[in-house]
Amino acid sequence: MIDGVIKYNLHFDKSEPLDKSLWQEIQAIRKKLKNLNLIGEKDGIGYGNISQRVSKTSFVITGTATGHLDELDENHYSFVKEYNDREFFLNSTGACKPSSEALTHGSIYNLNDEIRAVIHVHSKDLWSYMLKNDFLTTNDALYGSIRLIDEVQKIYQNINPLDNPIFVMPSHEDGVIAFGKNLDEALESLLLVYKLSLKNG
Ligand SMILES: [Zn+2]
Repeated sequence: MIDGVIKYNLHFDKSEPLDKSLWQEIQAIRKKLKNLNLIGEKDGIGYGNISQRVSKTSFVITGTATGHLDELDENHYSFVKEYNDREFFLNSTGACKPSSEALTHGSIYNLNDEIRAVIHVHSKDLWSYMLKNDFLTTNDALYGSIRLIDEVQKIYQNINPLDNPIFVMPSHEDGVIAFGKNLDEALESLLLVYKLSLKNG
């Protein structure tokens, strides 16, 4: 299954680019991930996306098909102003459409009001390491599917998500998601395991 194909029902109103205050923190984190190739391009397809919560029901996310770009600007961020992961629906605005994995981000925000940042990366080392070791893992649900959304809810049913804010998706090759109370925390959780994977891979 390839990235970049939006499967949820998207209502998108193209608007002026988002104000820098809405995406500058994402931009800083993205630069670090891009340098590590955790966000990037493989076989001509961009991968990786980052979001930051704005309110209980809204967040800003990197645009669809932007993974390959070295640096993003105001034209590459989308504001998700409303979504419903049960109805597989998302409403966004900005200069570009949101990441195809935006609804999965929304579903993670639904887990806990304190979650304010979600990072999705691709890495063979990290992915293999997490699958081989005792990390949280989803079932074979495909990325962007309603089954994956159900599965995310399920794996966090009996744990506080912020106690274990990283999981691996076996059916989404190289795909890992980390989150946190803010972008720095999400990045820290991710890099902790990433470094282990490089040491022990
Ligand atoms: Zn992905």
